[in-house]
Amino acid sequence: MTWFQEHLHDGVSQSIRIDRLIFEGETKFQKIQIFENATLGRVLALDGIIQTTEADEFMYHEMLAHVPLFGHGSAERVLIIGGGDGGLLEEVLKHPVRKVVMVEIDGMVVDLCRQHLRSISGAAFDDPRTNLIIGDGLEFVAKGNENFDVILVDSTDPDGPGKPLFERSFYENCKARLGDWGVIATQNGVPFFQHAELSETAGNLRSIYEYSGFYGVPVPTYAGGFMTLAWASRGTDLKSADDLEVRVRNLGLKLGYYTADIHRAAFALPGYIKSLESKKQTSRGR
Ligand code: SAM
Repeated sequence: MTWFQEHLHDGVSQSIRIDRLIFEGETKFQKIQIFENATLGRVLALDGIIQTTEADEFMYHEMLAHVPLFGHGSAERVLIIGGGDGGLLEEVLKHPVRKVVMVEIDGMVVDLCRQHLRSISGAAFDDPRTNLIIGDGLEFVAKGNENFDVILVDSTDPDGPGKPLFERSFYENCKARLGDWGVIATQNGVPFFQHAELSETAGNLRSIYEYSGFYGVPVPTYAGGFMTLAWASRGTDLKSADDLEVRVRNLGLKLGYYTADIHRAAFALPGYIKSLESKKQTSRGR
């Protein structure tokens, strides 16, 4: 019997039995593993860290897509950075958006997920509204001039190619790509283990955007309780969209996690997370 062992946090590890190995290989960016587990279905890991599983992907992808999109209310142009498995792209395309640009640094992740994790992306990569760019998201926002209504950052953790996507200059460049009502949302780790990440992001976003904060979603295979998703905007307060219930009802999506009630409740965070938001960060550590 072979086990996949994730060592993301100091002194703690998570094990998942590999019932069938589907792919294992290395690109110039990262090590990629796709395997099957009887409980979780197919699992994608990059550099030994779980990225997504067929069983619980809906929780994370629905919350990263639908909270900003329903909160914004009329997004037409969406930018996704990372997200190579296509799960977030599939959720975004459930909205009446005109165009989704997805900038993923590692083309192999996209190719392998299209081949072996089809249940996660469905037909999203073939949708005519999808513009897939294989490139660095950091460079795309720094050098491009296209504007977006919503930017979603579905990146790996702040090690390897995902690291600069957690830095102040990246959030500043994103602001320049967003209009007055534009919204950015990004994955921000599991604060029970990754305290520094939350405090650092909170400080950066607060100093750049008029509105910012975090909302929570517990994803079973991102061990440690709540994952937090960070959000920010010049003019949109995601917490208090007046006609949220109407927007959600009108689109009539059949979802597994997101509802209008969950949207409103997700901003109520426990004390240990609230206190990290206001903690001054001196060094990133875990
Ligand atoms: N949901 C996952 C999580 O939170 O663990 C993230 C999944 S998604 C597969 C992460 C993707 O971000 C990877 O495919 C990786 O190649 C991509 N990525 C990392 N750094 C990037 C960058 N600088 N520009 C674009 N994509 C990047």
